[in-house]
Amino acid sequence: MVSAKDFQSSSPPTTEQPDALGRFGQFGGKYVPETLMPALSELETAFRQYRDDSGFQAELQELLREYVGRPTPLYLAERLTARYAKADGSGPQIYLKREDLNHTGAHKINNAIAQVLLARRMGKQRIIAETGAGQHGVATATACARFGVKCVIYMGVHDMDRQALNVFRMRLMGAEVIPVEAGNGTLKDATSESIRDWVTNVENTHYILGSVAGPHPYPMLVRDFHAVIGEETRTQAQQKWGGLPDIIMGCVGGGSNAMGIFHEFVDEPSVRLIGVEAGGEGIDSPKHAATLTGGEVGILHGAMSYLLQDEEGQIVEAHSISAGLDYPGVGPEHSYLKESQRAEYYNVTDEQALAAFERCSRLEGIIPALETAHAIAYLETLCPQLTGSPRIVINCSGRGDKDVQTAAKRLNPG
Ligand SMILES: *Cc1c(COP(=O)(O)O)cnc(C)c1O
Repeated sequence: MVSAKDFQSSSPPTTEQPDALGRFGQFGGKYVPETLMPALSELETAFRQYRDDSGFQAELQELLREYVGRPTPLYLAERLTARYAKADGSGPQIYLKREDLNHTGAHKINNAIAQVLLARRMGKQRIIAETGAGQHGVATATACARFGVKCVIYMGVHDMDRQALNVFRMRLMGAEVIPVEAGNGTLKDATSESIRDWVTNVENTHYILGSVAGPHPYPMLVRDFHAVIGEETRTQAQQKWGGLPDIIMGCVGGGSNAMGIFHEFVDEPSVRLIGVEAGGEGIDSPKHAATLTGGEVGILHGAMSYLLQDEEGQIVEAHSISAGLDYPGVGPEHSYLKESQRAEYYNVTDEQALAAFERCSRLEGIIPALETAHAIAYLETLCPQLTGSPRIVINCSGRGDKDVQTAAKRLNPG
């Protein structure tokens, strides 16, 4: 639990840095067993030290360039833009920030590779991680293989069934994948099991959390390792049109790709920030994952944030056609950006996301991840409301090769 010791090194809270308790407003914090408090403090100290360390930064920058493939392009999606053009030739200009072109096909490698570097600096020889769809597990297994570090991935049995190909990928790269039978055998249960392992093996083990969720310092740390997405976007926007984007959009599961592109622009009031959640079969049905638009404030996996719970405070299973958005919680900074009204959050249904998956494939020759397709789908609602020719940047968080089987069951391209 939170202790008074954490009031040390108190820096005043700003809109972007959590306070000394690791909170963004009322959200975040460290609601964890006492045994984990030293590990979280150790991690925070190491992160603050190496974040400003030129040797660490040089190594990270080189890996991002040579191994991950950064910078990723900011691409003008001309035919998607044409779809929303008005009769007078005005209309939004739509750009895609191509995180799908990263090694392993999504943004997740930015965080995984940086945390493995950090773990090595901290002298930890063993890495553990949770995974749902397997994307974070694959990114972590990749980074561990690159450095020859022992890697253990916790994955729910139900997810292992659904994502057999990713299980094979992780094992191919030398990771040990441990099936989690508890609960529903999904991401929530795998996360709980990872925390349990960490409590037991904290001496030699680093836990690579996969989103901007969990106890402090993870929401800050994971965000800062993804902030390169927004930093590149600012530079590229400056080069392409000499200004800022007008609107930035990202899909929100735990919230890491959205936070990664938002962070650079939170202090730019002219930039609208929009997060799109998974509405599943509709937020009035029990089958959705729209935590911010359909949930309530509570505590899950060490942090206070919006989440899906029933009247007794039990966590409700989330549902989305995209496994990466299928999480009943959300990163605390998103809860804060929602309450402070700095960012807006909406949701789209499975159906709308599938239509966008097909539309983007047809119009751009880019098959987006089903997660990403949620952000693209919201253009259908947003664009008719806009006047003039605002520039919209969508974070294209991942590629959709992993989703073609799911989509093939639901779509019938002629
Ligand atoms: C995991 C994943 C997401 C959802 O995670 P966030 O932390 O919300 O970014 C979105 N898109 C892709 C491609 C993913 O793999």
